Amino acid sequence: MIIHLDADAFYASVEQVENPELRGKTMAVGGLHRGIIASATYEARARGVYTPMPTAKALQVCPELILVRGDMTKYASYSRRMFALVEEFTPLVERTSIDEGYFDVSGHRTLRPLEIGERLKARIREELGLTISLGIGENKLISQIAAKLRKPDALVEVPRGSAREFLAPLEARWLPGIGAKAWERLQALGLHTVRDVAEASAAVLRQAAGNYAEALRAFACGCDDRPVEVDRDEAKSYGVQDTFGENIDDRERLLGILRGMADGLMARVRADRKAIRTATVKVRYPDFTEDTHGMTLEQATDLETDVYPRLPSLLRGAWKARRPLRLISLRFTNVCEPAFQTELPLDGATPPRSRQQRAAQLLDELRARSLPLTRGHALRARP
Ligand SMILES: [Mg+2]
Repeated sequence: MIIHLDADAFYASVEQVENPELRGKTMAVGGLHRGIIASATYEARARGVYTPMPTAKALQVCPELILVRGDMTKYASYSRRMFALVEEFTPLVERTSIDEGYFDVSGHRTLRPLEIGERLKARIREELGLTISLGIGENKLISQIAAKLRKPDALVEVPRGSAREFLAPLEARWLPGIGAKAWERLQALGLHTVRDVAEASAAVLRQAAGNYAEALRAFACGCDDRPVEVDRDEAKSYGVQDTFGENIDDRERLLGILRGMADGLMARVRADRKAIRTATVKVRYPDFTEDTHGMTLEQATDLETDVYPRLPSLLRGAWKARRPLRLISLRFTNVCEPAFQTELPLDGATPPRSRQQRAAQLLDELRARSLPLTRGHALRARP
């Protein structure tokens, strides 16, 4: 189960915590981006102030609006403290912005997701004076919509298995990727609710959403397999990228490069006595557009040989436009402790794995002595 966190009126609320005179006032934070309201209290929103709105316009609709100049350093410090409280419940935290994120609570031993949500809201209120909205669901999509539906101070759980019913009556504009334009197009085709989108014919949906039609239908049915990616904190990921002297479009050579990258990254993972669960390939084309594709393994690993078989489909998934590439990168996230795995007795059923572990260890030792020993695929990485 995944929880989505979204702090309520974050910048404005931080200002109210620091200055009690601002509490309960029609107040907004501006001055972070030239002339734009960055965050408004719910009192100000009730008077027609929203974000992003030009400050001049906000003062027109609400002349007594109190404007506070924003201070990003202060907000970043509150954000760090807020996510530190989240990490007391799980290390699997993905920050998507300064005041929003997802975390995976499936693995919690003693608390159910709703109990985690209740405790976290109380902790953040006590320690920081902030209210947050939490949504709990079986995937990112459901948790995010559940959190946003009843802001502020929301705590909404959508029980496993009821994702589709939960979404069905909502307006289709709640679905990811539906902005103002797309929402108009959906309505023009008679697709008003999420149920309408889920049940639309393939032809109508294609007319409404083009190439996005199938992905949109999956979301409308409550399906979402995007993993929680623990990648915002540099200490909690391992990554490497290679910018090519000349663009490459040879798949075999790219796979050789990726394998070599996996070798180097896993040596670092083992040196830190960690394991990883998610691998992501990013490609960049000569025009600097990028595509990525990630995959989460069933079990955490610290062996490059567990990642090799995934590399072809990771590359296929990321390399959407079959144009030559100027850069490729590999990143490992969802970093965790490998303890439970290495403590497993290496019984007769797993000789290949123990051999791979010995080989990996040997390679690490030889590399530590600067012996130029590489795996065979390094040869394929060359032109
Ligand atoms: Mg927010």
